[in-house]
Amino acid sequence: MIPYGRHSLDASDLAAVVQVLEDGLLTGGPQVGCFEQALAQFSGAAQAVVVSSGTAALHLAYQALGLGPGDEVIVPAITFAATANAALYCGARPVFADVLADSLLIDPASVEACISPASRALVAVDYAGQPCDYAELSELAQRYGLHLVADACHSLGASYQDRPVGQLADVSCLSFHPVKPITSGEGGALLCQDAQLAERLRRLRNHGLDSDFAQREGWQYAMLELGYNYRLTDIQCALGLSQLQRLPDFIARRQAIARRYAAAFAALPAIQPLGLRPYRSHGYHLYVARLPGGAGRWFQPLRRLGLGVNVHYQPVYLHPYYQQLGYAAGLCPQAERAYTEILSLPLYPAMSDAEVEQVIHCLCQVGEEIGL
Ligand SMILES: *Cc1c(COP(=O)(O)O)cnc(C)c1O
Repeated sequence: MIPYGRHSLDASDLAAVVQVLEDGLLTGGPQVGCFEQALAQFSGAAQAVVVSSGTAALHLAYQALGLGPGDEVIVPAITFAATANAALYCGARPVFADVLADSLLIDPASVEACISPASRALVAVDYAGQPCDYAELSELAQRYGLHLVADACHSLGASYQDRPVGQLADVSCLSFHPVKPITSGEGGALLCQDAQLAERLRRLRNHGLDSDFAQREGWQYAMLELGYNYRLTDIQCALGLSQLQRLPDFIARRQAIARRYAAAFAALPAIQPLGLRPYRSHGYHLYVARLPGGAGRWFQPLRRLGLGVNVHYQPVYLHPYYQQLGYAAGLCPQAERAYTEILSLPLYPAMSDAEVEQVIHCLCQVGEEIGL
């Protein structure tokens, strides 16, 4: 099976992990700060705070921005459930905005229609690795006094108007799950400009304690607020740091595969790659195609041919849990229509040219079989 996504580890990644295991602290040690510094430098953000997952990053971002009961958070309908779930963790209510039909990025016009007196934050999800329309979204956030959060779990290494992901919102959340742009096993990070916000995030990551074990000089320490254990281990940070050195190569390879797909599918009207928006570079975490004949007709035949195609994503509010909370079907028509037509095709840096050609061949074959 050729999976839709997969990590890529080389000897340098393994050596970095082994070195920590042989003679480093396993957690709370120097790798944490090294990884944070490297992330900040890579993205041009002033501050980076690593945490145990992308979900933990979203949770801490919303909490540190003060979201709570009675507050509304605007999120796109097409995203991983965690973008919305983290609002529920804080007692806030996710409000789902529709997506643009061509790119499946959050639609600024739909965002404006979602704004109410209870709106506190707007979350831009850089779907598939393509940055959102940040000029329009920043303007809306400013006009209505909303915090702008980037769910950049797909897009580390991409940019918008020559500004790297990490500088495009008040706070940006990353994931280092194995299918994401770089991996630390599990892991995540927050990027921001504000040193006070970063200090609060570090405290929340460590139970709300005012200093962590390594920094502590005296015997006294204080828990100032209710926090969590969202720390990332030194083992994970060493892997993440090593992967970050390789990210430019990963992105170049992802972009090359995407170009090959686009060229191959240009002649096939039954397969429509998602649209590219201007003034930005795409990180191609996912390669999503629309299949106007209905993705359901392609899914099983492609799986039988050994392609690990997948669907990213079902509109979040259609999940049974959200239906029980009272969200009705029909809320976001573009998202619901897209959901019936999208498939993520295999794309990851370690894919060989032969595997890329095999994917194209399988799509052509299935297209012929089902008469599209
Ligand atoms: C992966 C992902 C998350 C959650 O990240 P984890 O590290 O798996 O917790 C959140 N949002 C989006 C858009 C994601 O793709």
